[in-house]
Amino acid sequence: MGLTGLEIFKQLPKKNCKECGQPTCLAFAMQLAAGKASLDACPYVSDAAREALDSASAPPVALIKIGVGEKAIELGNETVLFRHDKRFEHPTAITIRVSDNEDVKAKVEKINKLVFDRVGQIHEVSMVAITNDSGDAAKFAEAVKTAQDNTAYPLMLVTSDVAAMEKALEVAGANKPLVYAADANNYEAMTNLAKKYEAPLVVKGTDLNNLAEVVEKVVALGYKNLMLDSGATEISRMVADQVQIRRSALKLFRPFGYPTVAFATNDDPMMEAMNAATLIAKYAAVVVVNSAEPEHILPLITLRLNIYTDPQKPIAVESKIYEILNPGPDAPVLITTNFSLSYFCVAGDTEAARMPAYIIPVDTDGISVLTAWAAGKFTPESIADTIKKLGIMEKVNHNKIIIPGGVAVLSGKTAELTGCEVIVGPRESAGLPSFFKQRWNK
Ligand code: SF4
Repeated sequence: MGLTGLEIFKQLPKKNCKECGQPTCLAFAMQLAAGKASLDACPYVSDAAREALDSASAPPVALIKIGVGEKAIELGNETVLFRHDKRFEHPTAITIRVSDNEDVKAKVEKINKLVFDRVGQIHEVSMVAITNDSGDAAKFAEAVKTAQDNTAYPLMLVTSDVAAMEKALEVAGANKPLVYAADANNYEAMTNLAKKYEAPLVVKGTDLNNLAEVVEKVVALGYKNLMLDSGATEISRMVADQVQIRRSALKLFRPFGYPTVAFATNDDPMMEAMNAATLIAKYAAVVVVNSAEPEHILPLITLRLNIYTDPQKPIAVESKIYEILNPGPDAPVLITTNFSLSYFCVAGDTEAARMPAYIIPVDTDGISVLTAWAAGKFTPESIADTIKKLGIMEKVNHNKIIIPGGVAVLSGKTAELTGCEVIVGPRESAGLPSFFKQRWNK
């Protein structure tokens, strides 16, 4: 872990002058420890203290950027061993391998289609890895060009041949691909190439000791835009190495303070998916697979979503008017909360009932109906405010709103504040189809 607030405080000037925007030096130290402030905000830090704090306050796992534009990815900056201690910061980049021996255009087009909509969020793979299986530098560069021309995803260039990497970087270097890999034999030339294009570089070892040695040599050449591959190929060894690297990084062993890359590739796609799932759970920042089949990729994306959501933050939808099946002015107005699951249950069951409707999720910080009611966030006042703010009653020719059955107790006051007739809906959204049949007669 990084320095604590008190350890940082000892190095600050203790003038309490507020020029950093914080009321005291101690408050500033706490912000620094939480990664919410930059040391540059204090003009009075001595050079010695700056040197000590700069290296000590750097994150245990460096932040690395791959690619440019909208689909560029960030990896690293991790600070914990277990998700429940805080959260994992940057989701694993699921990367699909394309050999320069296969039909690159066809596979890349298949990869581009691996886009999934889950509870209103779009999820997709992160990167395309081109591997130089042909051993031919010109063919590798051609494959890289074809991939680059046909996808917006960042590229990972996989070859230990420096000449082939040089040709590939002439094609793709401006787009900051991930350069894989520098090892004990080629690290000087690979580092120079990565430096020239300011591209992130994977350092690969034959084991953890060798990895640490090569990383130190690369860092001594003045390059720190790095990722790590321990060189393990057996899944049990890979997982053990991933855990060891993360533990060492959190103890500020600097050679391991970079995000990791792991190849889960396997001829058996089910075994490959299981390897990849294990590596997503245990710290790999980039996981490479062969398969571009949706049935292998969707479970990995779902697992990644589960692991990398912030456990302290519920998934929420925006509080706005949602139109289901092109509703007209006589459509019902359904009130719910903006907890993603609540909204999608109501939307799904309304759609299943073939009932055009408006859904209004009240902003309850992403909390579900009963919990939000108990916490005082789903109240007659918040419902009335939302209805007024969104202007929903101006879209309909009636004055009825439907609230969830579990909070029937809110109906009287809500009617008073909104001026609407409040209809109490079913307790569960699954009851909506029969509710519409029996109770919605407008
Ligand atoms: Fe302390 Fe520096 Fe902030 Fe002044 S600017 S309060 S000296 S940390």
